[in-house]
Amino acid sequence: MLPFKLVYSDAYFLPIGEHVFPAEKYRRIRDRLLAEGIAEANDFLEPEPANDQDILLVHKPEYVHKLKTGTLSPREEMELEVPFSPELVKAFWLAAGGSILAARQALTDGVGISIGGGFHHAFPDHGEGFCMIHDVAVAIRRLQRDDKIRTAMTVDCDVHQGNGTAAIFAGTRTASALLPSAGASTLDSSSLSSSQRSSALPGKIRGAHAGEVFTISLHQHNNYPIWKPPSSIDVDLPDGIGDDDYLAWLDNALSSGLRQFEPDLMCYIAGADPYREDQLGGLALTIAGLKQRDELVFRVARARSIPVMVTFAGGYARHVEDTVTIHCNTIIAAKEVFEMGK
Ligand SMILES: [Zn+2]
Repeated sequence: MLPFKLVYSDAYFLPIGEHVFPAEKYRRIRDRLLAEGIAEANDFLEPEPANDQDILLVHKPEYVHKLKTGTLSPREEMELEVPFSPELVKAFWLAAGGSILAARQALTDGVGISIGGGFHHAFPDHGEGFCMIHDVAVAIRRLQRDDKIRTAMTVDCDVHQGNGTAAIFAGTRTASALLPSAGASTLDSSSLSSSQRSSALPGKIRGAHAGEVFTISLHQHNNYPIWKPPSSIDVDLPDGIGDDDYLAWLDNALSSGLRQFEPDLMCYIAGADPYREDQLGGLALTIAGLKQRDELVFRVARARSIPVMVTFAGGYARHVEDTVTIHCNTIIAAKEVFEMGK
């Protein structure tokens, strides 16, 4: 039995037809975990859909109305990049409910993992990039409303920048000076010692953050979204970064963020698309490197006793089995880190 719960429903499946987003990955992850004895049936919790009030904590009433009445404009539907249907709306409401449940579980167990979610490209007033509803933001706002948490930190390791997350929580950030950083174009980390490397984050650290949600995004700079609204920390990685460099930047971003901010909850968006075989990504992490990434996040959270909720976001490996392996490894990494010393 796992020392935490896995939030999952067969209805996480996104009815989007033939699509680069492998909607069947959720069920395949569940099946693999059971088949390999990594998890047992009673490790899983079935989520309820979020209610409309929860969705409205993040999204504009006009947008929610359009979704519920199927009245998106053709342009809005195009931006979503998945075919609209009332069934798809249901799946996103459920994903948001799953993230709320995973966040609650994190507060009791230290970790809570939803085998879904991570729809970080959804904005208050529109969806884009396969993301209709920002499930993670809904979970944060719901737990804040319930007085379960005051502050949260998002740690977004999907290969694409968390533009929706940055936009939703932008209002909670205080302006501050940029810290010194090296631009992606000047980065040649192979020539840097590790101490130099840690002072040469190829990102923009926006410094002191007095608001209640601190956002970190580690992503490929030269990729969707073209317009990247500022996160609290954006690490704009150059194309082709491999395991060692990626882990160094992640370590740096986490320690920098946690020097500035004390979250009551960490929301880890564990995208599988920094993988070198990804069809929509241009970084070069290995499957083993991605597991080390997960371990790093979990070790940091555990060392500081910060509850961590996990969602899975993107993953477009040429072979879906690789995406499934990367996501299963996130659960194995959590098991290894959180079982230690128990
Ligand atoms: Zn992605």
